[in-house]
Amino acid sequence: MNTTDTPLLDAARRLHDIRDRMAKAARLADRKPEDTRLIAVSKTFGPEAIEPLLQAGQRLFGENRVQEAQGKWPALREAYPDIELHLVGQLQSNKAEDAVALFDVIHSLDRSSLAQALAKVMAKLGRRPSCYVQVNIGQEEQKGGIAIEALPALLDEAQALGLPVVGLMCVPPAEREPAPYFALLSKLAKRHGLPRLSMGMSGDFETAITLGATEIRVGTALFGGR
Ligand SMILES: *Cc1c(COP(=O)(O)O)cnc(C)c1O
Repeated sequence: MNTTDTPLLDAARRLHDIRDRMAKAARLADRKPEDTRLIAVSKTFGPEAIEPLLQAGQRLFGENRVQEAQGKWPALREAYPDIELHLVGQLQSNKAEDAVALFDVIHSLDRSSLAQALAKVMAKLGRRPSCYVQVNIGQEEQKGGIAIEALPALLDEAQALGLPVVGLMCVPPAEREPAPYFALLSKLAKRHGLPRLSMGMSGDFETAITLGATEIRVGTALFGGR
């Protein structure tokens, strides 16, 4: 085998393996495999790790830092114009303009000041990335996401500002069984008439799919350890 083929074959194999596991989880829950989208979270990885996944057909990618994403995605997008870029990490209001300019979807709307900043820059740039409201589902201190009891007010505000909020996002507490948290996020989304659920990572995406995830965010299982 030509050694230059190896990264591509590895990427294709890992992608196939994840898609297979996604399909099994979907079947278990009587859902359609195509109703959950796979976001490849490429944070900390450079173009040499990302290219093989692009060549294997993956088009949805996630990053957690605006600056890091600005450094690597514009060039990759020239080669693959149909890339869809998702911001999955916390967003500072002073980076809102850069984020709206670069990303197609923002998963980390979690406070009023950010909602206001996003509305302002969306109007300015004429770009409207879909937004998920991130919920601090385990009520943890030091964790991103809006408190559950403050969610209705933030959703009302986002609606008044005309933000394109499509769903809810969460990262459950580490070291805990994630299923109850995914179930709770799903219930909150239903209560507010939101169709999409961004939940599930390398260690728990199958559980998330059985509980209704429409987007899973997978890093290490696709790229290896960081
Ligand atoms: C890094 C990250 C992921 C991917 O995590 P893995 O465990 O590597 O799959 C998903 N969501 C968010 C918000 C992240 O920061």
